[in-house]
Amino acid sequence: MAALTPEPRPKIPIGLVLRRGLRRRCPRCGEGPLFRRWIEVHERCSACGLLYQTDHGDTWGFVLIMDRVPLFIGIVLVYFGFRSTSMTLGIGFLVGLLVPLIATTPNREGLAIAMVYLWRIYLPDPSDPIHQREYVIEKRGN
Ligand SMILES: [Zn+2]
Repeated sequence: MAALTPEPRPKIPIGLVLRRGLRRRCPRCGEGPLFRRWIEVHERCSACGLLYQTDHGDTWGFVLIMDRVPLFIGIVLVYFGFRSTSMTLGIGFLVGLLVPLIATTPNREGLAIAMVYLWRIYLPDPSDPIHQREYVIEKRGN
């Protein structure tokens, strides 16, 4: 009697997937854009057809975590002694926190979508269409 062995899971280059998300590209193929405008997510990848978000709540959780990173820098600065001595310095401090927070929003959201993609690969849900056929990630270094 043959022993049942699970099918080998395809090796997913985690760093490559995260870099693709950071570059606002499809986490699976690296070709299709994630967003059609500022942060409006395409439903599927135009190159490989990957459904980006099966449940928007999954992505939202990672986006909330990613949003805290720039704010954490401000908290660290205040904790280690930054004090506003004038209105100009205080406004400059807030602008210095808000501009990077806003400017990196698509990159951080792309990273969150890449994290959800890895989540879907490593913690598979049988109802997720991503597991209905075998996918292969090409190692192109992008
Ligand atoms: Zn793709």
